[in-house]
Amino acid sequence: MNTHAEGLDFGEAERDFSAVDKVRVVEALSRVLPAGTLMYETEDLRPYECDGLAAYRALPLVVVLPTTETQVVAVLHICFELGVPVVARGAGTGLSGGALPHTRGVLLSLARFNRILKLDPVARTAVVQPGVRNLAISEAAASHGLYYAPDPSSQIACSIGGNVSENAGGVHCLKYGLTVHNLLRVRGATIDGEIVEIGSGALDAPGYDLLALVTGAEGMLLVITEVTVGLVPRPQLAQCVLAAFDDVVRAGDAVARIIAAGIIPAGLEMMDQPATAAVEEFVRAGYPLEARAILLCESDGTPEEVAEEIARVWAVLEASGATEIRVSRDEAERLRFWAGRKAAFPAAGRISPDYYCMDGTIPRRRIGEMLSAIEQMEARYGLRCMNVFHAGDGNLHPLILFDANQPGELERAEAFGAEILELSVALGGTITGEHGVGLEKINQMCVQFTTDEVRQFFRVKAAFDPPGLLNPGKAIPTLNRCAEYGRMRVSRGQVSYPELPRF
Ligand SMILES: Cc1cc2nc3c(=O)[nH]c(=O)nc-3n(C[C@H](O)[C@H](O)[C@H](O)COP(=O)(O)OP(=O)(O)OC[C@H]3O[C@@H](n4cnc5c(N)ncnc54)[C@H](O)[C@@H]3O)c2cc1C
Repeated sequence: MNTHAEGLDFGEAERDFSAVDKVRVVEALSRVLPAGTLMYETEDLRPYECDGLAAYRALPLVVVLPTTETQVVAVLHICFELGVPVVARGAGTGLSGGALPHTRGVLLSLARFNRILKLDPVARTAVVQPGVRNLAISEAAASHGLYYAPDPSSQIACSIGGNVSENAGGVHCLKYGLTVHNLLRVRGATIDGEIVEIGSGALDAPGYDLLALVTGAEGMLLVITEVTVGLVPRPQLAQCVLAAFDDVVRAGDAVARIIAAGIIPAGLEMMDQPATAAVEEFVRAGYPLEARAILLCESDGTPEEVAEEIARVWAVLEASGATEIRVSRDEAERLRFWAGRKAAFPAAGRISPDYYCMDGTIPRRRIGEMLSAIEQMEARYGLRCMNVFHAGDGNLHPLILFDANQPGELERAEAFGAEILELSVALGGTITGEHGVGLEKINQMCVQFTTDEVRQFFRVKAAFDPPGLLNPGKAIPTLNRCAEYGRMRVSRGQVSYPELPRF
């Protein structure tokens, strides 16, 4: 791998790819790809024009659907030689525009890399291709009493390659960790076509922890071609506690108190009243509609462990002022409690033509403050917001409801979202919990990080991708962009936040 990062600084300006010639690219690719794996007619490109952040759309120059690693390497070689940008794509469920195509680039879909290569129940590992769906791993492991713990709500569709690239989380990540904590090995190709293996089949690997570096790299360092994940035993029992509160701040404080009591539940989620109302109409989960907020708190383990933990959780909830506490009586009721939470995004889609899902993370003890601030923002921007979040992790998912057909509403929703993210930073948190930066939060990277830190990010990228061809324009802002965004915030009077904490 070339590592001549010194002296390179892609951080000063956006790169110009106007010299890329479509005919040349198509001719070169058609020499290395079999029939049916290369598309360049507009109607064939249209399905790839956006990911889950549908407000941003762009048609790529071409789409390739390779089926072997050799084909991936050949595509990358050509792009390297011709100076063509490459955007890798899994299932396209990302919510930050990470898989948005480059108009002068190749959209490299890993959808056909959909095989589970090896499942070892003794080592409790699975070797899978990157296009395998998250849930498919647990389905394949079920007969061995095992499952893959990270469970994004999109798990029925999203791919493991996308999960690694976004460091995806989910309800059970509070106890079992994010993607990065359940990953053993990644194999992939760099832009110049070199195959690299990072991590190992064992619990640790020699050298620097590059596995953590490539997890959450948003397709900017490698194209992932194979992943080894760890599997965990299915717990004997899981039960879910549903607690109602007549005040959102009290519900937020209860979350902090549960963790402070030394309890790490299998899941700890919160929904406010607009969210429970929307969900209840949709899936009838049995939520108390008069509550201003509800918490869902799951315990798993042996029956004895679950009974003991639930007793402790109950005591904390009572002391925190819960107005009602229910424990799921059987598996069907537990699944019903969760069905509501898992249906929150589609429920937002039922009551509003469009919604914008934000993803800031804040210290748990500041949840109440954030919710009060969001209420004020709703009035100021004239838009409604439903709040659902992975409360145990302090990971917010405010769903801002808007109608893109109404002039100015999309822009107001974006400004509303930007304010939530920037407040997350000011409260001691970060602009993303699990959805990544992509294009969506690129301006807020300038708020979270200093110019020097942004320069270091570009150096890391250049060590893997010297010409800057993998997913250019995403996740790391150019310094020009940051300077421009800084000027804009000053003119909007938005630089009044206290000195920002650094991580
Ligand atoms: C309804 C809904 C609910 C969601 N809930 C959650 C949730 O609970 N938790 C959560 O974390 N996310 C959630 N998401 C977001 C999304 O599902 C995740 O970010 C997921 O990890 C994206 O996977 P994907 O296969 O769709 O990736 P894509 O959207 O295709 O790509 C995402 C990024 O990964 C890169 N990439 C993809 N494959 C590769 C590869 N093989 N090599 C290199 N780079 C690659 C892309 O370039 C892009 O930058 C949700 C989305 C939706 C629509």
